Amino acid sequence: MSNSEGEKPRQRDRDRPFVFLEFCKGCGRCIDSCAKHCIHEGHAIHSATGLVPVEMDLAGCNECGLCFSACPEPWGMVAEGTDSPLAEPAHEFTPQVQERPIPERIPDERLPLADARPLVTKGAYAAAIGALLAGCRHFFGYPITPSTEGAELMAKLLPRVDGHFLQAVSEVATVNMMYGCGGAGLRSMTFTSSPGFSLMLDGISYMIGSEVPGVFIDVMRGGPGLGNIGPEQGDIKLACRGLGHGNTHAIVLAPSTPQEMLDFTMDAFELSFHYRNPVIVLADGYLGQMTGRVTLPKTMVKPGLPPWAVNGRASHRGNLINSIILDEKDLEAHNQYLDQKYLAMQKEQRADLYRCDDADVLILACNTPARMAKGAVGELRQQGISAGLFRPQTLWPFPIEALQPLLPKIDRIVVVEASSGQLEDEMRLALSHAGVMAPRIDHVRHAGGVLPSQAEVVARVAGARKSISGTAQQVIS
Ligand code: SF4
Ligand code: SF4
Repeated sequence: MSNSEGEKPRQRDRDRPFVFLEFCKGCGRCIDSCAKHCIHEGHAIHSATGLVPVEMDLAGCNECGLCFSACPEPWGMVAEGTDSPLAEPAHEFTPQVQERPIPERIPDERLPLADARPLVTKGAYAAAIGALLAGCRHFFGYPITPSTEGAELMAKLLPRVDGHFLQAVSEVATVNMMYGCGGAGLRSMTFTSSPGFSLMLDGISYMIGSEVPGVFIDVMRGGPGLGNIGPEQGDIKLACRGLGHGNTHAIVLAPSTPQEMLDFTMDAFELSFHYRNPVIVLADGYLGQMTGRVTLPKTMVKPGLPPWAVNGRASHRGNLINSIILDEKDLEAHNQYLDQKYLAMQKEQRADLYRCDDADVLILACNTPARMAKGAVGELRQQGISAGLFRPQTLWPFPIEALQPLLPKIDRIVVVEASSGQLEDEMRLALSHAGVMAPRIDHVRHAGGVLPSQAEVVARVAGARKSISGTAQQVIS
């Protein structure tokens, strides 16, 4: 490929150039190197690589060889007559159908952590610490309240652990940097908030299509539009149903405490690399700022390197990360493959059940509203009402397998949320897909930075028991 000085093999002192199209990435360095203007930008996408190789007209070529030296690809621009490195080069660039040997996987390692006293820290900091302990050494982001504290801590800590913090020019730049970093098999993350998350959705679609991992921590704030910096849950629809164009899904984790901010962020990296798919940690403005006790884990992760990474190793040279699949049947097959992956993700359903065993009314809530709901359960029990809290910890996949066995025993579900019914919609969709009869469903909703209060939840549950048809309740089924 190259001699010890890094020069490409030459047939003679002066050779005519030749391009192995399968190895040309269209960078154009050879174009700039040629004083005779023999090399031009290409116009055709190569069917195997999805890239656009250069085109040549060698009528004026004086065989100076400068284009060989300019080409960074070992098998891009070479001397005419150089043997092809591959019997079937196209196979090197079609990961879905290739039969080439799989590059070696370097497994993750778990390193023991010294015992440490619990921290008392805010949710955003806990998530940043979780990312570092999960082996994340690359942060890309654009500041946005109320998520900025997480980014700020990463900016302080990453340089101390040989990591990289890069404040991008925008959220669009951020997500595309994460695409590149994840494609190289490295762990990257961002902190953002609702308007910023919206801007990242196009890039998240590309990451899902290309099977690139990355962790997005969305500290939701009030919307729509610029809204305000109060806590809301108005991104549930986006995270669960709206990750850009195409048939996209990602696991969505919903923490309720600073401890879960740390734990779920660590889990997010593991899930993201396991499934080669982005993972969303969906918090809210209160949770980002809320201070709580956080116990550190016993181990931290030293990341390995997955075999699919495009990272410059010789054994990885055949890898290609892209989401362009021009043939309709091939793209349908890729979508079907992704559907199977989404199906496999169903086993990641998680829920926390609090006093649900004997409950005849379930309060369903997540994030900060689940904390008010939990208080309401205790108060209702004191009034003799058997209430329980069902707290989804994954919003996608929705934990229907934990909810379904409870349904025959309950009269009602009261959904408590800080959005206009987005959590309730996820629950209703899950019930519908499971083909089960929905019980009576009530709700307590706020938006715009106003959170449901414990007193409201108690009043809704207790009031509805006294008067099922009372005007105080908002019954929608
Ligand atoms: S060998 Fe020299 S003249 Fe010929 S295409 Fe390359 S750079 Fe141009
Ligand atoms: S320098 Fe090499 S990789 Fe870049 S366009 Fe020219 S031939 Fe292709």
